[in-house]
Amino acid sequence: MADLWECAYCGLTDAPRTREHLFPTALHRRLQECNKVGHVFWLRRLDKDVKGEPTLKDVCSRCNNGYLSDLDAYICREFDSQFSTIRQRFEKVLFSYDFHLLKRWLLKMAYNSARIHSAPDTFALKAVLPYIRGENDHLGRSVRLFLQLAYPAPIPPAERARLGGEEVPEIWEPRLNRVGITEVTVEGIGRKIIRHVALQSYTFMLAYSNPADGASANKEFAAEFLKRAPAAVEVKASQSEVATVCDGINSWDQFRQSR
Ligand SMILES: [Zn+2]
Repeated sequence: MADLWECAYCGLTDAPRTREHLFPTALHRRLQECNKVGHVFWLRRLDKDVKGEPTLKDVCSRCNNGYLSDLDAYICREFDSQFSTIRQRFEKVLFSYDFHLLKRWLLKMAYNSARIHSAPDTFALKAVLPYIRGENDHLGRSVRLFLQLAYPAPIPPAERARLGGEEVPEIWEPRLNRVGITEVTVEGIGRKIIRHVALQSYTFMLAYSNPADGASANKEFAAEFLKRAPAAVEVKASQSEVATVCDGINSWDQFRQSR
């Protein structure tokens, strides 16, 4: 009997299935390469994390080897030119991007993570599948994109002792790639799910908006969100670069919160 299944991206059942980890292998390899020196301890922990991560087996080879692999290739190039650099606190950073390639890749990561964890935003991500596939740029407008930079921070001495003492670096640098989810409550707008995708110093945040709320509510939300995170910037479709200062998140706090 034929193995009946549906590709999570295109819904087709006749192309072979593929199998992969949440973070593309080529990106994971880059992360390991740029963190080779002086981070042996953390690399070991990181490897453990990745090996323990469930694999995705519901994507067909046409999607995976087609547009999804183009998105991965884009992000690998960006990793080499931008994300591989650990930013220092108060450093001025000009982030340049191709808006749709970036946002489609981030949404792909969010969607993959959401399926692994049966997360509450799975439905919102399914709604933008044609955007992720590159078929409908207009549809992507329901998701706003923000960027915030994490800065290296000292690990509190007690924590450092608990983790292994001398072996643990004194300063924690944002050297992880990860995907997470949080909720924020904005007065007058209500609760919103925010997706985070961190690539070392760079944390991207995706905010879903309800098309029924209208443009003004979404604008209001963006303004309110930026008020709470003053070092965050909105990444806009109308531009190809955005200036920001690395003062968004203490990377040790960020790491602790993600555990
Ligand atoms: Zn497919």
